[in-house]
Amino acid sequence: MEKEIRKILQEIGEDPEREGLRETPKRVAKMYQEVFYGLTTKPPEFKLFKSNYNGIIKKTFDCFTWCEHHLSPIELKISFGYIPDGQVTGISKIIRRIKWWCARPVIQEDLTDWIVDDFMKELKPQGVIVILKGRHFCELVRGIKTDSWTATSSLRGSFEHIQTREEFLKL
Ligand SMILES: [Zn+2]
Repeated sequence: MEKEIRKILQEIGEDPEREGLRETPKRVAKMYQEVFYGLTTKPPEFKLFKSNYNGIIKKTFDCFTWCEHHLSPIELKISFGYIPDGQVTGISKIIRRIKWWCARPVIQEDLTDWIVDDFMKELKPQGVIVILKGRHFCELVRGIKTDSWTATSSLRGSFEHIQTREEFLKL
């Protein structure tokens, strides 16, 4: 990978031998391995606990993913929720698992679906919902060069009822 990054530097008109760039191929290669760990590692496991809790568990947090068309970052604001059916998972596991899905090149639409399908399969809950708001740096720094946010949502099971959805949004 380092060799190819050196080549990119040459192709854009840089001198990969100048002092500031000498270590850059190594650093960039290391960064790619770090940020795309979702492709090379197993998903963080869910720890399941029995629970009769029957309401919504909602988690909101920020992270990053990567546009598969430009390999540029997408800043994400994530709202995730599920309604358990006899078992819950540790709340930090929710973030770890979603971040693992984000750690690869994606299109936002597919990422949204992957997350809800994964939680449906692994937690067997009554329902799952996720809303992603993405700020695509490929729109910000190139092309249309505009600071904008793209929202996508996906839901399964009990969130298909409008009342459940409204309760989630109110939380
Ligand atoms: Zn893009």
